[in-house]
Amino acid sequence: MLGLMQNQPLLISSLIDFAERHHGEGEIVSRRVEGDIHRYTYKEVAQRSRQVANALDAMKLQFGDRVATIAWNGYRHLELYFGISGSGRVLHTINPRMHPDQITWVANHSEDQVVFFDMSFLPIVKAIHARCPTVKQWVALCDADKLPADSGIPNLASYEALISVQPSAYTWPQFDENTASSMCYTSGTTGNPKAALYSHRSTILHAYAAALPDVMCLSARDSILPVVPMFHVNAWGIPYSAAMTGAKLVFPGPGMDGKSVYELIESERVTYAAGVPTVWQMLLSHMQPAGLRFSTLKRTVIGGSACPPAMITAFNDQYGVEVLHAWGMTEMSPLGTLCTLKNKHLTMSEEDKMKIRLKQGRAIFGVDMKIVNADGAELPWDGKAYGDLLVKGPWVVANYYKGEGGDPLVDGWFPTGDVATIDAEGYMQITDRSKDVIKSGGEWISSIDIENIAVAHPAVAMAACIGMRHPKWDERPIVAVVKKPGMDVTREELLAFYEGKTAKWQIPDDVVFLDAIPMGATGKMQKAKLREVLKDYKLPGL
Ligand code: ADP
Repeated sequence: MLGLMQNQPLLISSLIDFAERHHGEGEIVSRRVEGDIHRYTYKEVAQRSRQVANALDAMKLQFGDRVATIAWNGYRHLELYFGISGSGRVLHTINPRMHPDQITWVANHSEDQVVFFDMSFLPIVKAIHARCPTVKQWVALCDADKLPADSGIPNLASYEALISVQPSAYTWPQFDENTASSMCYTSGTTGNPKAALYSHRSTILHAYAAALPDVMCLSARDSILPVVPMFHVNAWGIPYSAAMTGAKLVFPGPGMDGKSVYELIESERVTYAAGVPTVWQMLLSHMQPAGLRFSTLKRTVIGGSACPPAMITAFNDQYGVEVLHAWGMTEMSPLGTLCTLKNKHLTMSEEDKMKIRLKQGRAIFGVDMKIVNADGAELPWDGKAYGDLLVKGPWVVANYYKGEGGDPLVDGWFPTGDVATIDAEGYMQITDRSKDVIKSGGEWISSIDIENIAVAHPAVAMAACIGMRHPKWDERPIVAVVKKPGMDVTREELLAFYEGKTAKWQIPDDVVFLDAIPMGATGKMQKAKLREVLKDYKLPGL
């Protein structure tokens, strides 16, 4: 017997309709590429996203056509999120930190018809436009008078000119909720990038889940600063969850440095912020020497890479800001787990609470997870056994776009490529990417643990641990370190700092000081590149 409830498809257009009707006066504040601060409301987002939809119709774009953006977090990007997906086209967010050749590759692979870009990325567009034959129209996110006269880009339009001639009335089409809504390419550390193709249904379910109290806990009383980019995995779904809850949105635009982020947090009374650890490191480095304080910030969600304990402690103890550690990936829309405490943890000592906060957290309702050994046998949830982490759920990929890379699933589960433990309470902790685990004398050493100890040293800004070939032990860890400006630490001092903090055999064999650690397009350390940098390196004594 079927239920007798209305079968209304879950569509992204309904989010902006809802925000307009119920939170029409809710504010959206953006630091613009133009340098000023722009301020308007959900009502205007809704009107202008309908103008975007009309403009795409006027360009004769078909249902399902891919429309790309190369843009910072800002109000025009938000309008494109709703206008493109809402009208049945597929929003392809391009990560501008990729190499121009890779950007060309993804634009051709997805067969983008139109590309909207921020003026900061004009040099990229100049470099690639001639190699993107599917693109009919390039649109700069600016006023008509800001368009460069001599760009050499045929079919270049200004966004404001393009949408201003369109009516703000538009009836959002109704269609199957499983229709593709947006896509995001993984960074392609092995082979060509592969794209996750999200659907309206997966996006709405993810938006509901992300807003839950034990996940991001978003509401109409929040002022949210997503520093996590809208050009990669939909800024962790925040644009959708914000419209669903009516939260105020504060967009940093190109200003990701500590000073700009701090100023926005204070001036816009931000209560909640989201970003990768490197961004928060820049913010803390700006605040600490100047003795600055937060007046409104309550919570910050940190993910994308392991959040070092020293950062959690700094936010918590010095600033009274709760850190929520999060884990996910492009293939998961991206949220998988978030670390929030249970009632029984509240009476624990700060030290014990910290042990929990360091974990990547509990599965969000909708995500199933398990850990398995090399034979695929499931491992116990005891917080000790570690194995390959597999996931499934309605916002986890079933296949990559165009079947790239073959069937990604194993018996219906998606292998994340991460190695993790899960404890009896369901808290998952990533010990490593499977390719980064250091195998020493038949035992595994977590590179994340070794890095976390190094960055707890006051003179260390960044640390990357990699395994080096060893004739007896197979591999031995070394740690590459970037010092904080004006601070000093010697190899011997840092190795001594490890004593008592980890088992003796896990202490790195050596410390290598570098000016910088290679970083990827999504703010993660690139260990393959680091290995290239250190290709002539030899372990001491060999
Ligand atoms: P990319 O940016 O390389 O395309 P993703 O953004 O999908 O890839 O990154 C997903 C990976 O990032 C995860 O599989 C995991 O290895 C790592 N990651 C994400 N969050 C965390 C976290 N909180 N702690 C440790 N690793 C994390």
